[in-house]
Amino acid sequence: MTLPIEHWSPDDPTTRVLVVTAHPDDVDFAAAGSVATWTDAGVEVAYCIATDGEAGGSDRTVSRADMAATRQREQRQAAAEVGVTDVTFLGYADGRLTPSLDLRRDISRVIRRFRPDRVVAQSPERNWARVFASHPDHLAAGEAAACAVYPDARNPFAHPELLEEEGLEPHLVPELWIMATERADRVVDATAQFDRKLAALRSHRSQVGDGEHLDQLLRSWMAGTALAAGMPDGRLAEAFHVVHTGE
Ligand SMILES: [Zn+2]
Repeated sequence: MTLPIEHWSPDDPTTRVLVVTAHPDDVDFAAAGSVATWTDAGVEVAYCIATDGEAGGSDRTVSRADMAATRQREQRQAAAEVGVTDVTFLGYADGRLTPSLDLRRDISRVIRRFRPDRVVAQSPERNWARVFASHPDHLAAGEAAACAVYPDARNPFAHPELLEEEGLEPHLVPELWIMATERADRVVDATAQFDRKLAALRSHRSQVGDGEHLDQLLRSWMAGTALAAGMPDGRLAEAFHVVHTGE
């Protein structure tokens, strides 16, 4: 990867960021370091998670309702590690997510309420180089989030019940940042936030166990991203593809 890379700086005027993902833990693998840099800089960050991740794990004695409650609790803990308290779960079935009109409307509702300057979402395109980043639920959440950013959330006549019944005015999101993409063109230096990203990931105990393997795994991923972006040795970074969705 030798793509032109822009480096995020604290002078960025963004004040509100909404992260939309399919499952509990997705944001933490791909973007929790960046989230921590933003909340450190005073940016308000909220999460919108389409499913409760209740189809995960292999223990058949755990009821799916209990698993959903556990995954929600773990995601709230992980969010708190990086300065996020506003977490919305949309309650769609894990493993069956589609970019339906209902999902587009529900993400649009969260956008119109929170009114972010930036939405961070998964890619709707399968990444053949990292196929596990392209779980079908991720592709669906990414597609629905992209549709919500443009055109649904900004169009007063899209999902008219949002305006007519709930009084939610349209909102234009000027930037969409795509995570875990082959088209990365922006990196965030999250070296100083690494420990909190690690703590966030370790909050997902039902998914990562004691999480002992995570330190090395994350360091090697993030160091590779930093290196590919031409950052000095020892830095750790997360990468995104920035799509301008303003006028
Ligand atoms: Zn996932």
